[in-house]
Amino acid sequence: MRIMTWHGGDKFTLDQVPDPVARPGRVVVKVDTIGVCGTDVHITQGLFPSTPPKVLGHEGSGVIVEVGEGVDKSRIGERVVMNTTSHCGVCSACTTWSESRCENADLTSGMFAEYATAPSQSAVKIPDTLDLEQAALTEPASCCFSGAEMVRIDDNGIGVVIGGGIMGLFTLAFLKRQGVERMIMSEPVAARREMATQFGADLLHDPAESDLTEFVKDHNGGYGANIAAEVVGQPKLVAKCVEVVRPRGEVLMIGVNPEGAPLPVDMYDLHYREITLKGAFGRGDVFARTPAEIDTLNLDGVISGRYELQDVPQAIVDSGEGKGVKFVIKPNG
Ligand SMILES: [Zn+2]
Ligand SMILES: [Zn+2]
Repeated sequence: MRIMTWHGGDKFTLDQVPDPVARPGRVVVKVDTIGVCGTDVHITQGLFPSTPPKVLGHEGSGVIVEVGEGVDKSRIGERVVMNTTSHCGVCSACTTWSESRCENADLTSGMFAEYATAPSQSAVKIPDTLDLEQAALTEPASCCFSGAEMVRIDDNGIGVVIGGGIMGLFTLAFLKRQGVERMIMSEPVAARREMATQFGADLLHDPAESDLTEFVKDHNGGYGANIAAEVVGQPKLVAKCVEVVRPRGEVLMIGVNPEGAPLPVDMYDLHYREITLKGAFGRGDVFARTPAEIDTLNLDGVISGRYELQDVPQAIVDSGEGKGVKFVIKPNG
């Protein structure tokens, strides 16, 4: 089979390797679609730690073609999305933190390839009504879903999302589903802003037109937002979220901020207004529940480009330039 190997920086090679075999407890999946993630972009830019050589790609869907010893043969032919790790359910991380931090996790292979292998548990069956291409959105969606579940929503208030990329759209949809009555999308690119309506946005804010804090107050009787989510990964936008929320408001940090970046906020203000800051990095415990959740969203137009396996480097560059919402790779055509 063909795989795309990353060698550090922006260097990749398309390699021919033997087809994988299903080891005990694992399955082989013929990959249908893999999403290009912001993390893939950051890895090639040296902004997210990763050690080459490596096969990247962690947002993949496909069909099980082979099962190893101990896995039910009836799973062959099953349409699945792949979680990047398995979980034991008994370690300290599983029982006190989240399944996605399992200390005994077994890994799924890199998915920029024609086939991938995964622990049987990590290949999650998708609903019949969800197509494989949209199912590849499960991993990014699960990170937003997990973050939205961390937030305390007690008075059906107003929420803000800064950043209308795929993660911002999902965060907005899940916060609304969690019970936030009205959601604002703040995003400078008109096309992305418009797409937020499809995900449930009630109000759209253009940061080039007006100040977000004033905008929120204008639409909320002079008060700030109950919840603000930063889904870009810029310290100054995290600070903006702190400014935008009302006393006892919560700030959800979904965007990946640069390693080593200090928090550019007034600590006295955080203390005085009793603001909560919440980091939200990964899939938590919700990966297996996510395909059914995204199946109920209108995902039309979210996939803005499809590339063949040999074009992974270009897809990563295009994705980094923010030319669309989500780019995907189709390794088997
Ligand atoms: Zn991802
Ligand atoms: Zn565990």
